[in-house]
Amino acid sequence: MFYSAYHSIDVVNGEGTRCTLFVSGCNHACKGCYNQSTWRVDAGYQFTQQLEDKIIADLNDTRIRRRGLSLSGGDPLHPANVSAVLQLIHRVKKECIGKDIWLWTGYQMDELSVEQAAIVALVDVLIDGKFEQALADPSLKWRGSANQIIHTISKSL
Ligand code: SF4
Repeated sequence: MFYSAYHSIDVVNGEGTRCTLFVSGCNHACKGCYNQSTWRVDAGYQFTQQLEDKIIADLNDTRIRRRGLSLSGGDPLHPANVSAVLQLIHRVKKECIGKDIWLWTGYQMDELSVEQAAIVALVDVLIDGKFEQALADPSLKWRGSANQIIHTISKSL
């Protein structure tokens, strides 16, 4: 997997103070996409074991308490990303107890593959759907256009 950016401290992508990873790879080609540089699956930087370890350490850093991990892009559910994203999520679940996971995808809940659905089953909040320029609304929280839906998967939230 490749990624375009990692923010170890982020307060704009989900509730609370978070770690946010923007992965590379997206084939939705939404008109008006603000992140076209992330469309190529090999854009940016290689996602390494070192970065995976750093994300886990950042989430467990007690000096600046993070509420959880946000996964955006690009598309974390792009077929090229599902294996690495699933591994990262498994580690967060096992090693970062109490941290929540938010994930943004251009796919809709009802069109996920088995592999993509396995990831979604482990996240706490899913924001799904392509960005629709005609439905864009800057006043919306956590999403760019009104067709996108915020799904609260975790019953604890
Ligand atoms: S899903 Fe997101 S990253 Fe992909 S084209 Fe649409 S707006 Fe851009």
